[in-house]
Order: sequence, then C-alpha cells, then structure tokens
Amino acid sequence: MRTKSRLLLIVTLMLLGLTTATIINVSLNFREYSINSAIEKSEMAASIVKDGLTSHMVNGIMDKREHFIEQISRNNDIDSLWLVRSQSVIKQYGKGFNHETVRDAIDSEVIKTGKTVRKITENSDKTSLRVTIPYKADTTVGNPNCMSCHDVAKGETLGAVSMEFDISSMRNSGMFTILKILGINILFIVVVLILINYYVSPYMKLFTNLQDGVARAYKGDFTHRFESKVGGDARKVIEQMNSFMEKMQGTFGDIKYNLATFIPQGCVSTIDPLSEAKTIINELSDIYKFKKTIELDASKDEVYKRLIDIFKLRYTVGNFSFFEVNNISQERTLIYTTNEDGTTICSDESIENAKECRVFRTNSVAISTEFPNLCHSCVDSNMHYVCIPFNINNEVSLNVSLSSMNKDDVEMMKQQTPSIKHYLEAAKPVIESQILMERLRETSLKDGMTGLYNRRFLEEIIDKIMSQAARTKDTYSILMLDVDFFKKVNDTYGHDVGDMVIMEIGKVLKENIREADLAIRYGGEEFVVLLQNATLEGTNVVAQKIHAAFAERVFNVGSGETMQKTMSIGVAMFPTDGDTIWQTIKLADTALYSAKTTGRNKIVHYDPSMEGEDVR
Ligand code: GH3
Ligand code: MG
Ligand code: MG
Repeated sequence: MRTKSRLLLIVTLMLLGLTTATIINVSLNFREYSINSAIEKSEMAASIVKDGLTSHMVNGIMDKREHFIEQISRNNDIDSLWLVRSQSVIKQYGKGFNHETVRDAIDSEVIKTGKTVRKITENSDKTSLRVTIPYKADTTVGNPNCMSCHDVAKGETLGAVSMEFDISSMRNSGMFTILKILGINILFIVVVLILINYYVSPYMKLFTNLQDGVARAYKGDFTHRFESKVGGDARKVIEQMNSFMEKMQGTFGDIKYNLATFIPQGCVSTIDPLSEAKTIINELSDIYKFKKTIELDASKDEVYKRLIDIFKLRYTVGNFSFFEVNNISQERTLIYTTNEDGTTICSDESIENAKECRVFRTNSVAISTEFPNLCHSCVDSNMHYVCIPFNINNEVSLNVSLSSMNKDDVEMMKQQTPSIKHYLEAAKPVIESQILMERLRETSLKDGMTGLYNRRFLEEIIDKIMSQAARTKDTYSILMLDVDFFKKVNDTYGHDVGDMVIMEIGKVLKENIREADLAIRYGGEEFVVLLQNATLEGTNVVAQKIHAAFAERVFNVGSGETMQKTMSIGVAMFPTDGDTIWQTIKLADTALYSAKTTGRNKIVHYDPSMEGEDVR
C-alpha cells in the first residue's frame, strides 16, 4: 500500500474512533439524563399527589380525590398513575376508589419495605420508567399530623403512589442527537481527508518519485531526475538530489569507461554496473597484489604454482587442469591437475600432440554445452568442460581446463572464465620474462659450441652434488680429457678445423655417457666427465670407449686431406681418491698431467705417488 493511502486510512480510522467514542459517551450521558429527569418528574408528581390528598383529607373532600388524580394523570409524560393503600389504611378506611390496593410485586415491595422502587423497561418500540414512592406517617411540624387520622405508628407506610412514564421520546431525541453527531463527524472526516489529500499529495508524489529514483540509483542508473511542485525545504532537497544524481552519472560514467580499458570487453554488465564496478575494482586490486607477488618470484615454475594456488582458492567448481604448450614442438605438458590420480579429461594423444587439442588449434574457448561432443580429445563423454587457451608468446601458450560431472557447473565455469583470463593476463609478462631469463641462464651455463655444460655450471652445481652425495652415498668417477697436440691442429689447419674437433668431442661424450652422468667443457679443449655411481671397472670401460671413439673419428681438413687425433684421459674417484669433488677433479688433472708427460694418448688413473710431480 502506498504511503498516501496508508496515511489517509490511518487518519480515517482515528477520526472514526473519535466519533465512536463521542457517540458512546453522548448516548450514555443522554440515557442517564433522561432517566434522572423522569425520576425528578415522578418525585415531583408524587409530592403533588401527596400534598393534594392531604389537602383533600383536611378539607374533608376525600371522596373528590379521583378527579384530582385524573387531572394529574393527564400529564403527557405520565402513562398511568394509581394509589396503593397499606393494609392498616384499608383496615381503617376500606379499599377506596378503583381498588387502591397493591397491583403488582413492586407495589407490594414498596408497601412492605417503605422504600422507593424505580424500574426501567426497554423494548424495541418503547422505553418506560416505573416509579413507586411510599407515603409514611409523620408528625413533622408544619405538616398535618398523619396519626391524628390514621391508626398507625409513626414512620409506618400508609400507602404509595405508582407511576409509569413513557420516556421513549427522550430516547428518540437521543438517537436523533447521535445521528446528528455522526453526520457532522462524517462530514468533518470527508473534509479532513480532502484537505489532507490536497496538501499532502504533492509530498507523497515526491516521496514516491524519490523512492523510484533511489531504487534505480541503487541499481546503478543515475539518469533519473526528481520533479515536484512543492516549495520550501522540499524543493531544496529535490535540487540537491538532482545535482547529486548528475554528479554520480558523470563520475560513474568515467569510472565505467576507465574500467572498460582495464577489463576485457563484455565483463561490465549493465544490470548493476555499480556493484559490478565494485567487483571489478576488488578483482583489479587482487590481481595487482598477485602481479606484485609474482614479479618477485624466482622462476616460471613458481609463477605457475602461484596461478594454480589462485585457481584452487577462487574457482572451486569441479576440477581443473593446467597445461603448458610448446607452440613449436606442439607438445603439451601437464603442470597440475586436481585429479588425485593425475589424469585429465584430455586424451594422451592430445597431450603428446597439441594439434589434437581443439582449444590449442582454434585458439578459442571450448564450452562442452555448446555442441555435442565438441572436443574429440575429451576422453570422458560424461564430463562437462570449459577449456581456455592463453598465449604467452610465439613459443609458449597455456591451457586451463575446467571440468565437472554436473552440467549446471558449466554456467559457473563460463562466468569464471574472464577472471581466469585476467590472472593469466597479469602473469603473462612475468612468465614471458621468466622464460627469457631461463633461456639466458641456460646459455650462460652451456657451451654454445658443443652443447655441453660449461665450467660455470659445474661451479654452480657442485655444492648440490656434494650435499646429495652425502645423503645418498653416491660416488663419482671423474675423467679429465685433453686433446693431444691440439695447438698443432690450429696452427696447421686453422681454428675452424680446431673448432670442428672440439664439437666432435661433444658428440663423442654425449654418445658414451648415461643420462645421470655429466659432461662439461672445462676449458679450451679440456673436458670433465662425472660418472655417477660407476665402479672402477665401469669407469675404465667408459674412459676407453670415449678414448677409442675419438681416436677413430676422421676429420676432413680440406682438399681431400684427412686427419685423426688422440686424447689423454686422467681418472680419479670420489670419495676413494679425493674427499671432495673439486679435490677429485684436481687429482684427475694430476693423472692427466701424468698421461701427458708419459707419452700421451692414454688413460691414467690417479695415484698418490704422482703428487710432487711438476704441475703444468
Ligand atoms: P698437449 O698435448 O700438451 O695438450 O698439447 P696441446 O697443444 O694440446 O696444448 P694445450 O692443451 O695447452 O692446447 C690448448 C690450445 O687449444 C690453446 C688454444 O689455442 C686451443 N684452443 C682453446 N680453445 C679453443 C677453441 O675454442 N678453438 C680452437 N680452435 N682452439 C682452441
Ligand atoms: Mg691439449
Ligand atoms: Mg689443453
């Protein structure tokens, strides 16, 4: 119910309540007044009757009293009037005219008790008052002495006068008065309501208008302007509200425009842009904090972990898997999946070959509900999914795959997609620079010519190897290799041929060691090989294989001429020979020196007796 109708209803009810109270009060007072005035009349009539009878008696004309009684009875208000004699008077003077004897129970009660009885009888068409007043024998000075004529004791009831009054006219005039009051009051109520309606209506309209405008503003629509014919303070309020709405419209327009530049299109809905703006600002703030955090992360893997944590925390519907794709080799690597058994909804083929993945191929979001069996690489036809592609650079892209058994979850996943993209967008430059850093680091730790690790890498990794060896009791056989008379190659055939020889050593080493072993270009044409957990015998086998393979290599040095080279190898074992790997490398170098000084083209094991020999 609108406020105005409510106000009018309340005022009407209050006035009707007041009218009812007035009518009840008036009718009660009127009744009391009518009865009291009838009683007064009856007492007056009784007194007149008594005085008249006394004077009739004194004048000895008691036999004429009937005429007197009749005259009094003619009074309009008196319905009937009769006299009642007590037993003692009847005994002394007889029953009198018209049987002045007890007519009913009231007469008999009054004669017996000597007390006045009044009784009101009301029915639908008549209201009457019955009054019976006793006469008592008295000897009051100034009045005739009753006992001079009556044989009665003082104070004894001589008789009574009974009267019936018709008081209907009083009731009728009371009813009429009440109707008048009711009429006047209803008229008053109507006038009051018309006045309230006239004066309050503009304020009520304004109030309704304000309600509508504020409701629209609450939903983010500030285009509403308030209009009203009211003046004074209310007009000021309208003007202030209108300038407030104008300001909000302008400010919010700017905010919306600026937000649209931050957030991809379609994210700002027009249903409630104000709360949407709040959500976006919160998200921007979260993304800003996320970005600041990942900028200090040490590696791409750490950034991936951070992204996964965010996805786990914020997007709790169903499962998700996170892939890195090598755009060049088109291999997908599963970085994380919420499935405990490590499986995903993607087929193994689509992981080995990213081209099988629809999202990678089309570079657009795949939503399972949009077409039956949308992605042919999805291995579980009962699963519903939203898969999101995201390009980091020409070489790397990411896939986020959200999935659930429940079809209803798809809607939620679709809603989460823009937010997921915001986080990926925020992480993109950091991931890109981490990829570059990793590449840079890789090149700084690898030798460009042979593709083997360099000495810097050995220096960096040696502590890790040592501490792991202490834990796992790993042993390392160390081979130190150096080409015999290499300078001659450079001098005779030039540096290009020298480089070719160095590159060939790289190949020989890669071909002859296992994955757990490490081959390092230690310097110029010197190489170090670390064989993990190799026995002395195994170490010899590897050293001999390398030695022989290199010796067999035939180098084309130009104009049909060929060349073959040999190498010397020094061998030392950790921890048998040296306490540390560095020390063992030095011991292998000592053994190599020994090989060089004792004829070259040979494999020499370290022996403590070699100590003290001249170091190169
Ligand atoms: P030895 O049998 O005693 O080892 O004699 P050597 O001539 O091989 O002597 P050494 O091992 O000291 O030779 C090192 C030479 O290797 C010096 C340098 O000119 C050459 N060298 C080092 N790095 C490179 C490289 O990258 N390319 C080429 N072509 N030569 C290199
Ligand atoms: Mg050499
Ligand atoms: Mg050398």
